[in-house]
Amino acid sequence: DMNIHFTFGGGLLKSGRKAVLKAVDGVSFDLLTGETLGLVGESGCGKSSTAKGVLQLYKPTSGQVLFKEENLCDLQGEALRRMRRQMQMIFQDPYASLNPRMTVLRIIEEPMKVHRTHGNRKERREQVIEMVQRVGLNPSDIHRYPHEFSGGQRQRIGIARALAVRPELVVCDEPVSALDVSIQAQMIHLIEALRDQFNLSYLFISHDLSVVKHISHRVAVMYLGIIVELAAKEELYARPLHPYTQALLSAIPIPDPEVERQRTAIALEGEIPSPLAPPPGCRFHPRCRLREAVCSRQTPQWREVAPGHHVACHLV
Ligand code: SF4
Ligand code: MG
Repeated sequence: DMNIHFTFGGGLLKSGRKAVLKAVDGVSFDLLTGETLGLVGESGCGKSSTAKGVLQLYKPTSGQVLFKEENLCDLQGEALRRMRRQMQMIFQDPYASLNPRMTVLRIIEEPMKVHRTHGNRKERREQVIEMVQRVGLNPSDIHRYPHEFSGGQRQRIGIARALAVRPELVVCDEPVSALDVSIQAQMIHLIEALRDQFNLSYLFISHDLSVVKHISHRVAVMYLGIIVELAAKEELYARPLHPYTQALLSAIPIPDPEVERQRTAIALEGEIPSPLAPPPGCRFHPRCRLREAVCSRQTPQWREVAPGHHVACHLV
């Protein structure tokens, strides 16, 4: 049974040659088999860094990623490569992530070769054909190149590539935000159907609470590198407790114009500050309409206020 437990406590994230990042330093969550955890926040809040930390594309200087009871941060070389097969990623921009000079067959086959998941060419080809059909493409499409496909079809190719090596955890990093709004819903339905067919766990990242609403079992809201609220999906949308979550939810348009008129939008003051120099106390306080004196002095505790509903805010 897969059970990923991810914690970064006060740690810095380092990437190979790049500067030290401090985008993620108070993040902790569990992810269960077959579960989708939505991770939501504005761009620059640390969502992608969290994903890279889970996948060990960044090595955190402290904290741990427990995947099947092994701390991935301790693994290197062959042992890490073996674990990586079980953790794949679906990217935001399907075009940028597909090599334009490779056919669909070679694109989907590549990770299967790297991870040696299939014995020979014939087996790999059969798997590629199965995967393209699973994502709604035709077997004959495997001889075509990325530029011959629409944005939505290219995302299907990216999904087929990620799932061809039979991962258990898939990080979906803004998988529909580069796509036309008219095809976003069908793409989310496809991603959801594949989760259920393959019993996958998803960490589903988006800047948009309306995108994660359908697919997630639980939703975590992130602000400046920390998770400020985490709850079951129904609970979070019905009873958002953190002022930041409330503001994000109030920005989602409601189709009913009568309801839309009666609702008060909660404005976010100012811009998101740099995660490298987060404000003291509650990191959200410069933008919070409810802030009190304590908010800039003390960091709010992460507390469970109802079963499974966690929040960090002095006023809750
Ligand atoms: Fe707003 Fe204070 Fe709660 Fe932070 S702790 S969200 S500033 S009320
Ligand atoms: Mg990002």
